[in-house]
Amino acid sequence: MRLYDTLTRQPIELPPPPEPIGIYVCGPTVYQRAHIGNARPFVVFSWLARWLREQGHDVRFVHNITDVNDKIYEAAPGRSAGLASEATGWYLEDTAGFGLGMPDAQPLATETIGEIVSLIEELAEQGHAYAVDGDVYFRVGSFDSYGALSGQRPDQVEEQEPNPRKEDARDFALWKATKEGEDTSWDSPWGRGRPGWHIECSAMAEQELGAEFWIHGGGLDLVFPHHENERAQSLAAGRGFARIWMHNGMLRFTGEKMSKSLGNVATIQEVLRAWGAETALLFFMTAHWRKPIDFSEQTLAAAQAQAETFRNFFREVGEGDGEPSRDGLAGVLDDDFNTPDALALFHEWRSRGDAASLRWGLGLFGLGGLAAADTAPSEVVQLAGRRAEARAARDWALADRLRDELAAAGWEVRDVEGTPPYRLVRR
Ligand SMILES: [Zn+2]
Repeated sequence: MRLYDTLTRQPIELPPPPEPIGIYVCGPTVYQRAHIGNARPFVVFSWLARWLREQGHDVRFVHNITDVNDKIYEAAPGRSAGLASEATGWYLEDTAGFGLGMPDAQPLATETIGEIVSLIEELAEQGHAYAVDGDVYFRVGSFDSYGALSGQRPDQVEEQEPNPRKEDARDFALWKATKEGEDTSWDSPWGRGRPGWHIECSAMAEQELGAEFWIHGGGLDLVFPHHENERAQSLAAGRGFARIWMHNGMLRFTGEKMSKSLGNVATIQEVLRAWGAETALLFFMTAHWRKPIDFSEQTLAAAQAQAETFRNFFREVGEGDGEPSRDGLAGVLDDDFNTPDALALFHEWRSRGDAASLRWGLGLFGLGGLAAADTAPSEVVQLAGRRAEARAARDWALADRLRDELAAAGWEVRDVEGTPPYRLVRR
C-alpha cells in the first residue's frame, strides 16, 4: 500500500502485512463541542486503521486529547480543568456516534506530564533546549532540518510565540511557567508550569507507539508549527519518530446557508443528529483525504441520496450471500487510500447486483447499517433528526408534531442516551 507523505512529497510504500503499523493522529484541544471539521481526521484515520487491519496488519491507532492549553484557560478562567474534562467526554461521545469504534488509545496530555518533563530534560542536556525565567524553549538553530516538513528555509522560518528573552525569534516553548489565573500546573526542574502543545504530542506518541512508528496524521492546518515542532523535538532527541506524515485536507463551508429547519449545523453532535452517521460517513467518503471537502446542505443531501440508493438496493435483494470480491477494493484503497474511487466501486457493485461485495465494503467503512434489510429511509431519519434538534431547543410543540409525522410514516421514535439520541422502530 502507498500513502502520500508530506515530508518527501511523494507516496511511500508500506511493508506488507503483518508488519505492525502504529498510527498517531493529533486530537482536539478540548473546551467546546467539536466542530464537524474536527471529525475528518478521526473518520479518515479510523477507516485507514480498519483497512490496514483487514489486510492483516497489527494496527495500533492512537488519538490524543490536548487537555491543557491557552484556549482552555481562556474559555474557563479558574476552572479550566473541569471544562477540559467535560469537553473530553463530549468528544468521546460525539466521535463514538460515527459507529467506527474507538482508537486503541486516547492519551491525555495531563496524564503524560512525567514523560513530557523527561523529554524536555533530555533536550536541554543535549543543548537543544534552554530555560528562561521558568519557561523552556526549543533551540531551533540546533536542529539542521528544521522547516523541512512545512517547506520553509531554516533561516526564513516565521517567528513563533514572541518573547524578547528568547535567543532566536524562531524558538518555541516546551514548558511554560504558570501565569496568574491558570488553575492547572505541575512541578518541574524549572518551577511550577505546564507543557507547551507540541512537546505533548512528541511524548504521547513515543509513550504509546515507541521511538519510531509508521504514520503520523492530522489536519493540513497542523503542518506548521505543530508538526514541524513535534518532528524537531523528537528527531533532535534521537528518536526515529514518524516514517510517513499524512495531512488531511480541510473542511470548507460553502454555498448557501443551512436551511432554517436544521439551523446552522456545525458541531459533530448536530450533524449526527440532523443527518445520521451513515450520511455523514458517506459525505466524508466523497472526497479524497488529501483534498478539501465542501460542507453544505447540498453536499450532505447528495450523500443522503447515495445512502438511500444503497438502502433501496438491499430492500430489493435482501441480505444477499456469497463471497465478496475483495481485489477491486484493494486496487483503489492501496493506492493512497482513494475513498471516492471506493465509493464509485460500491455503486458499480450495486448496479451489477453484487450484494456480498457491497455489504462487505460498506461494513469496512462503518456503513453496514445500509445493508440491513429493514432500515429507516432517509426522509424518516431526517424527521427524527429534526425532532432531536427541536427537543434540544426545548421546542416541545414542534417535537410532538414531528413525532406524529413519523408515526404517520410508519415509524416510532424512541429517545435514548447517545448519538443520535433516538432509535427508530417500525410500527
Ligand atoms: Zn499533535
